[in-house]
Amino acid sequence: MAYLTLKNINKIYPNGFHAVHNFNLEIEKGEFVVFVGPSGCGKSTTLRMIAGLEDISNGEFLIDGKRANEWGPRERQIAMVFQSYALYPQMTVYDNIAFGLTLQGVDEDVIEQKVNRVAGILGLKDYLDRLPRALSGGQRQRVAIGRAIIRKVGVFLMDEPLSNLDAKQRVTMRYEIAQIHRETGATTIYVTHDQTEARTLADRIVVMRAGYVMQIGTPYELYYRPQNVFVAGFIGEPPMNFLRGAVTDGALSFGETKLELGRKLPGIKAWEGKEIVFGFRPEAVQLGKQENAYQITCGVELTEMLGDNTNVYVAAGKDHAILKVDSHDTPETDAEITFSIPLESVYLFDGETENVIDPTA
Ligand code: ATP
Repeated sequence: MAYLTLKNINKIYPNGFHAVHNFNLEIEKGEFVVFVGPSGCGKSTTLRMIAGLEDISNGEFLIDGKRANEWGPRERQIAMVFQSYALYPQMTVYDNIAFGLTLQGVDEDVIEQKVNRVAGILGLKDYLDRLPRALSGGQRQRVAIGRAIIRKVGVFLMDEPLSNLDAKQRVTMRYEIAQIHRETGATTIYVTHDQTEARTLADRIVVMRAGYVMQIGTPYELYYRPQNVFVAGFIGEPPMNFLRGAVTDGALSFGETKLELGRKLPGIKAWEGKEIVFGFRPEAVQLGKQENAYQITCGVELTEMLGDNTNVYVAAGKDHAILKVDSHDTPETDAEITFSIPLESVYLFDGETENVIDPTA
């Protein structure tokens, strides 16, 4: 049985705003689930309903099979780390981490043992006597995490815990959070708008948009089997390229290029005159003409050298795309090039619903 169950959860704020629509999810014990999506899509609202900080307007929330809608935050056995770490400035790192246990009147010896264990996991042993103001942002964030994981809780909730850190610290802390999860095995729900964070940390990702769940899956599933244009464009960096057009004589045309869609979609006749979105990832292309591939000829607008690979910005007709190529093969700006997209790396979406088209359906 799932540890946490969200059944048709809805949130309608008192002002009538419907922030979360029919959210369904089952989370297993020990799983690391990430809610990701653009600002305002309802990630924090959902997390706060799970924490018991926000009422659930409709639907049912179960912990270990028991209805928990009406339970208070404490009863839910949940710890939360927020964006702003809110440490007590006048207390040492040790006292900050120990605070919850001290309040509960736990024995000093037990507290010391637990603080040392947590400080060990978080690499804070040398800082236990310091005040928060003498710590870096990353170290403060670790203290905030320490304060949350020292209590024995069933679930660990994190709302954008890395957003106050600089780019380098974020990468380090991301790694540390993954390590902490490995060591503690705590069921974790993590909210972010950063798809890289989501892909690297999650067992499963929930992609949200404007209050709706767009897809739930492993990072692999979301990358290779996106169900709609939104997920396809959200997961992956640089994002998937999309060429849109109405099907004419079974093909889409872009500049001098004609893409015969029947090669990918045997039932193309049914799509005549309708709009289709032709998607491919920047990293799936190969320069030159390959077998079993779509070929596109286009002009190079700009190149961006990133190290071992280079982003090549191209224009095909009025459409634009980004190609990721080996830096040794970087074409000249303004050159005309032909590149290939293997058939299996092409995604077709219904231009109207934006849902992926199943070629076998
Ligand atoms: P961010 O990444 O910016 O934190 P989010 O995905 O976490 O965004 P939420 O904070 O869950 O988004 O907000 C979802 C929507 O609900 C937003 O449009 C927000 O303006 C709205 N909202 C949040 N709190 C309230 C409230 N108390 N009353 C009315 N609407 C609210």
